Amino acid sequence: MDSKDFLENQYDRVYITSLFTFYYSQTIKTIKNYEKLISPERIFIGGIMVSLLKEKIKGDIDDRVTILTGLLTDSCILKLGDSVNIDILPLDYSILDDIVYKYPAGDNYFAYISRGCTNKCKFCAVPILEPKFCMTNNIVNQIKRISKEFGEKKNLLLLDNNILSFSERELEEIVSDIERLGFDKETKFYKELPLKQFLRKLHKYKRETVASINVLSETLCYLKEKEKIKKTKIYQEKYLEILEKIDRADDKLQIIFENEKELIEILDYYHHPVGSRRAVDFNQGMDARQLTDKKMKIIMD
Ligand code: SF4
Repeated sequence: MDSKDFLENQYDRVYITSLFTFYYSQTIKTIKNYEKLISPERIFIGGIMVSLLKEKIKGDIDDRVTILTGLLTDSCILKLGDSVNIDILPLDYSILDDIVYKYPAGDNYFAYISRGCTNKCKFCAVPILEPKFCMTNNIVNQIKRISKEFGEKKNLLLLDNNILSFSERELEEIVSDIERLGFDKETKFYKELPLKQFLRKLHKYKRETVASINVLSETLCYLKEKEKIKKTKIYQEKYLEILEKIDRADDKLQIIFENEKELIEILDYYHHPVGSRRAVDFNQGMDARQLTDKKMKIIMD
């Protein structure tokens, strides 16, 4: 089976996103590479660069490739027929398990509350990509959903184009929601037991029948490392017994799942995280022209 057959058989579609226009040649190269590996009818491209340079791109790629522009607010655009607003879905944090380095901002909730901007600066792509300023995402729902699926994160990184486009009243409500979510000055963040994070990921991968080699080997290293913790005699004997079972097993994942309650009980007993302050980062633009004393006070208090 050559690589074309492999892709044709393994994947229904290939989606390629794009970012900055200065990555034009790399993006075209990627698209053309996939044109060789799978029927172009099954390739979908979109994202910022593609939305801005649609006409130019058309001349450089196979005309059977589907070009999507703007926001993916309805999965019907992809002919999926389930009417999901893809644009407001949480990011898939599991991709961070596939990279070989530690993503520095990995312990953040990435979220946004609005699309668009009330300004129309000539040099900016936002008015073209997101022409209408509107509140799109409920921050409380977003954080709760991310926590449930991927575990609690320490900090909050907001990616709104211009959070100050909100009125004082709206901004007050947003900040109050953020505080209620545990991002106030008093509430401390306590890191959960890493084993719980590993198990959450392993269960998710098992449900989705996705290979989890990286996470499994990280879990095994972690469990081995925790062998060194000074434990009570009963806990140490139990812990070593489980580790031996895992060592001997062909299906190590299964043995971990079978013993997860005991493992959590033992390691939780010795897990004493120190509380740390959380940060809220209004990461994108903040338009100084729309800043008022009241807005400043809302954000800083
Ligand atoms: S204020 Fe910022 S986001 Fe809004 S249009 Fe101008 S540059 Fe773009």
